[in-house]
Amino acid sequence: MHLKKYTMLLQKIFCLICIFFVTIVTAQKNTTKNTSNVSQWKKEVIKSLDEKQKTAQEMVDMVFSFSELGFQEIETSAYLTQILEKNGFTVERGISGIPTAWMAKWGNGKPVIALGSDIDGIPKASQKPGVAYKEPIVEDAPGHGEGHNSGLPLVILSAIEVKKIMEREGITGTLVIWPGVAEELVGSKAWYIRDAYFKNVDACIFTHVGSNLGVSWGDAGNNGLVSVEFKFEGSSAHSAGAPWRGKSALDAVELMDIAWNFKREHLKPTQRSHYVITDGGDQPNVVPSKASVWYYLRERTYEDIKNMYDDAVLYANSVATMTGTKVSHQLLGTAWPGHFNKSIAEAVYANIKTVGLPTWDAADQQLARAVQKLVNAPKKNQRGEIIDGLATKLDTLNGPVEFSMGGGSDDIADIAWNLPTVVLRYPSNIPGTPGHNWADGIAMATPIAHKGVVSGSKVVAATLLDMFTDASIISNAWDYHKNVQTKDIKYRSFVEPTNPPAIHLNKKIMDQFRPQLKKYYYDPSKYKTYLEQLGIQYPQIEKKAN
Ligand SMILES: [Zn+2]
Repeated sequence: MHLKKYTMLLQKIFCLICIFFVTIVTAQKNTTKNTSNVSQWKKEVIKSLDEKQKTAQEMVDMVFSFSELGFQEIETSAYLTQILEKNGFTVERGISGIPTAWMAKWGNGKPVIALGSDIDGIPKASQKPGVAYKEPIVEDAPGHGEGHNSGLPLVILSAIEVKKIMEREGITGTLVIWPGVAEELVGSKAWYIRDAYFKNVDACIFTHVGSNLGVSWGDAGNNGLVSVEFKFEGSSAHSAGAPWRGKSALDAVELMDIAWNFKREHLKPTQRSHYVITDGGDQPNVVPSKASVWYYLRERTYEDIKNMYDDAVLYANSVATMTGTKVSHQLLGTAWPGHFNKSIAEAVYANIKTVGLPTWDAADQQLARAVQKLVNAPKKNQRGEIIDGLATKLDTLNGPVEFSMGGGSDDIADIAWNLPTVVLRYPSNIPGTPGHNWADGIAMATPIAHKGVVSGSKVVAATLLDMFTDASIISNAWDYHKNVQTKDIKYRSFVEPTNPPAIHLNKKIMDQFRPQLKKYYYDPSKYKTYLEQLGIQYPQIEKKAN
């Protein structure tokens, strides 16, 4: 008996030793095989993406010409998903109850890597590209004054090239492509998380237009927010004949705004809060029975955002009591403060150094300097670097901010608090523009945007090849995610199970402008570029005399 047990034990130990060595040998074989192969494949994708300038130009120009606002990205989503389907991706449309949202998948098994970017535009930002003066394509219409026309073309280009190599070399893994719908309304990503669309995703590379090739990790220093609309209801009356019989909903809105503006004195300097009156009544001689106000309340932490949110609801209820009106509120959007993954950022940055900035020509630089003059661009950026034309020196890899006075928000943070995520910024725009402005659209359908997209697509493609062949990037990413990023801070969404996505937003505006914008949709069968279609001589520094 004893001898038998002893033999069995020896056999077990022998087996374990065998498994151990086989594992080591396989791992070593994979690494040696991979390092040389991967660098070869990277060279190959970089070269083939260099040859995709025309495809990049066509996709970027096309989405630019659609000029669609958040939740109304109908043409944009139809166009992009059709390209993905043609390239073998399976598309699930209407995710999270958002008609313009979708998720495209290709591949098999792990790792599952998601690639995303925003697709919506800015109100009243319609602007001709390639000209250094204000000239809308359609007066007062929306436009790509944030450059969201370029990010999905970028990731689609990378995914298609990487897919070719994965198919040829039998590399296991799944690619997921998804749009940031209504980013300007921070209206979709927390809903995707709530509805578990990212449950089986191992990592996410997001891209956002910028004016350099860069990536960062850790606390990004920006604010999270809630976007909430308060709707008041009173009763109408003749404003002159019987004003004492009216209960003005507009009074409630104005008192709410006054109360909040007093509140500012007692808020932290990191907060940002702003509002627009979305309904102020119809005409002065009718006491407004309905009125509404829409707030963005931003802060650096979940707790501080929550406090502002609770106070705003309290104020709304209080002014409703004061004015004898009723109030209801709806959460229209939300975002967490940004925090991005270290391991993936390092992998991305290594490829940024290999790829480098695009080669700008004299025309690109001429337009950039003319636009900087036009918008009265600051002489230096926030890091003290001189702004003069397009970027010619690569950004460094930036870590967590030490201190921040707060700022904008992006709901990519809600993805990043749930799985390892980074945001690659790529140089498709001109440094020093004001943001959310018509002037931010000038470069976005020109060679500047096209070159920036191609350089960004090379970085994404090279990083994907790294991540599909070196499991340590994703395991280190989860280690950072679990043991650093979410060690003390736990994600809690402001989105409740009952909150619908705010898909009604922007519908009226798009219904009004789409027929006019349609006349200017890019037609690549007739014109080499959108600039050519619009009759623009690039760069057009001065307005042509009529
Ligand atoms: Zn953006």
